[in-house]
Amino acid sequence: MISKLVPPHIAAIEPYPPGKPMEELERELGIVGSIKLASNENPLGPSPKALEALREKLGTLHRYPDGSGYYLRRRIAEKFKVPMDGVVLGNGSNEIIELVIRTFVRPGLEVIVPNPSFLVYRLSVQCVGGAVVSVPLRDMRIDLEGVLKAVTDRTRLIFINNPNNPTGTVLPKSEFEAFLDRVPADVLLVIDEAYIEFADPEKTFSGLDYLDRRGPWIVVARTFSKAYGLAGLRVGYGVMDPAVADYLHRVRQPFNVSTPAQAAALAALDDDAFLEKSRALVREELPRLYERLREMGLEALPTQANFFLIRMPVDAKVIYQAMLREGVIVRAMNAYGLPDCIRINVGTPEENGRFLRTLNKVLQDLNAPKGND
Ligand SMILES: *Cc1c(COP(=O)(O)O)cnc(C)c1O
Repeated sequence: MISKLVPPHIAAIEPYPPGKPMEELERELGIVGSIKLASNENPLGPSPKALEALREKLGTLHRYPDGSGYYLRRRIAEKFKVPMDGVVLGNGSNEIIELVIRTFVRPGLEVIVPNPSFLVYRLSVQCVGGAVVSVPLRDMRIDLEGVLKAVTDRTRLIFINNPNNPTGTVLPKSEFEAFLDRVPADVLLVIDEAYIEFADPEKTFSGLDYLDRRGPWIVVARTFSKAYGLAGLRVGYGVMDPAVADYLHRVRQPFNVSTPAQAAALAALDDDAFLEKSRALVREELPRLYERLREMGLEALPTQANFFLIRMPVDAKVIYQAMLREGVIVRAMNAYGLPDCIRINVGTPEENGRFLRTLNKVLQDLNAPKGND
């Protein structure tokens, strides 16, 4: 039996729910023109500058990519005023997360993961046989007191997702600084800033501002998947001390970021107009969505990201299924331990309107007394 060959820590992993392509779902349900608000993607499409740069590179696809990611790393370093030697590119920031874990964690060591947060942290730690130490959120925010209490002499990494997926909450700068003063020196902090471009800088911090203070004990992960609209290309980056970067480079595949991904990300990084448009959409649409949801008697949780949670009067999976049949794809939060919540990202005004109408209909259908035919 093949299962005899699989190490127990691998056999114990619960598979990430695969999900079907939208086209396949539509075919099965006999619908067309469905909309997806389930993966926190950018509804405006990719950055136009990125698309143009990508097209220019298509003729070079017979060549391997630049394995050093030179131009993209150089521009990231310039833009964020960090040393180029401390920038590592990844196949999405998911790969940065995975590289840090593969580099620093082994069986017997612990990783602190707030819960609920991004499911990939847990999965990646399990893959290397490390122990996940789960710290529950407090009032939907990462509980830094709880995190400190969970530290032991086996703790190697602490994950902080800011803003946190799926809650959309951020940590105030003052709270983070007080935490920094108390967290033991030899624990590596991983600050995942996948949604930082959407957050109000007055309300929170960026890990980039603490690289000097924390020395090699902090890694900041960022992505082109959300605000820059390039989720399908798979490109993200980590910023860290060059000594840490050196180890990650040993672990990563030599050509982990494709040529089109490098070219598109480089262009997207300077597409200020697109970034501002993406932020403005969220800024303008959120109040409208919250207002309408309130009128429907629903609670939407405050957010500093491009997505938010909405409490449902029934199990979220029921809502998910019913919305799906109407061609509106949302995320049920059951797998995150929030069975009464759905999560949506802000869509275009048209998508948001359709979402609201569909949710209203679905809730009314659930309330309507069942016909007894
Ligand atoms: C979407 C997301 C990412 C980005 O992943 P990529 O691999 O860069 O697409 C990272 N962290 C969190 C919490 C996310 O929600």
